[in-house]
Amino acid sequence: MIVLLVAIFHLQCRNPSEIIILDIYSNNDSEMASSQGVSLASKFQGAIVGAVFGDCLGAKFEYFWGPMPNKPVVKYYETLINEVRSQKDGEKGFVFYTDDTCMTFDLGESLVKCKEFVPRDVARNFGETYFAAPSQRYYGANVGFIFRSTKVNDYRNPFNPAKEQFNGSGSYGNGSAMRVSPVPLFHHKDKVKIAELASHQSKLTHTNPKGINGAILQALAIEKAMTTEGIRDSVAFARELMTDLENVTTTKEELDVYDEKMKIVIKLIEQKTEVKAEDVINGGIKTDVTAHEAVPAAIFCFLYTLNEKNIPELSKFNGLVRAVIYAAAISLDSDTVASMAGAIAGAYYGIEMIPPEWIEACEGSDRALKLADGLYKLHKNNKEAV
Ligand SMILES: [Mg+2]
Repeated sequence: MIVLLVAIFHLQCRNPSEIIILDIYSNNDSEMASSQGVSLASKFQGAIVGAVFGDCLGAKFEYFWGPMPNKPVVKYYETLINEVRSQKDGEKGFVFYTDDTCMTFDLGESLVKCKEFVPRDVARNFGETYFAAPSQRYYGANVGFIFRSTKVNDYRNPFNPAKEQFNGSGSYGNGSAMRVSPVPLFHHKDKVKIAELASHQSKLTHTNPKGINGAILQALAIEKAMTTEGIRDSVAFARELMTDLENVTTTKEELDVYDEKMKIVIKLIEQKTEVKAEDVINGGIKTDVTAHEAVPAAIFCFLYTLNEKNIPELSKFNGLVRAVIYAAAISLDSDTVASMAGAIAGAYYGIEMIPPEWIEACEGSDRALKLADGLYKLHKNNKEAV
């Protein structure tokens, strides 16, 4: 009977489970993740809230504007900072997030609740959130088809519709990479398991090798940013990341595409003059809705903005803000590239680098902090159990 109940729980995983929330700004935990003096708890929060911050900021510029200079994004960023400061009643969450954040919550909250990846539970979260979503979430049309198909059987066969999409070749959109930030936190310090889970969750919506490897590369970038002590060599970081992908992915098809894109990332990092949006796109990274264009773009934005001298116009901001503003400006798929760059940068710099005004302004910040703390608690419990 007990076995049966456990089996039902794992299949459904619908029971609420307690998430203990840490004191979010105290960082009183002793486990330090890098020589920068940023705690691991802060990095967990930085990764998830950074993803939401990028989504909220980038959503304003998604496709409607195209790649552009930094100036309009800086103006928007500062306008909202001032708006929060001038508010007397402290209105929160008035800048909306989009599908990127919806699906990050759907995946991450299921992992925390179930303490393992339960595909049907994640698929159900995806579907329920999608069907209840207001129009400003801007879901892609193709993923909507998958949610409608999985709902027909009450999410019992959650992998089938994605597998059959596009005559069986599957999607290589960036959707399974944009939501992947909970994965490196769930399996922190285990790249093989990170790759397995990034791949597994991708197959709920994106089964094309380019889509799967995009999710793995983004997850590995977050993990590497979280565990690297003061990045001094961006080119080496990019090279090692590609080697990590080649070593841990079990999807070996079309890895050349990522190798080619990461070589362009390195070329752009080494460019002598300031890299503008047109340099990125003309150089061969289109920053669009496909995984192999968006994930390398996000990695580039993080690495290029490490050095405050690279973009003088952004030098007054901290590194995390530089990464997010720059990604929103140069990208076609602004919300997603900024969200992924924000997740990588947040994992590196920690929550303290996300301006409190933006935490106030972004819809979903509290929920993101709660999710990060739930994942951190799981990490701590797993560590103690070993
Ligand atoms: Mg979006």
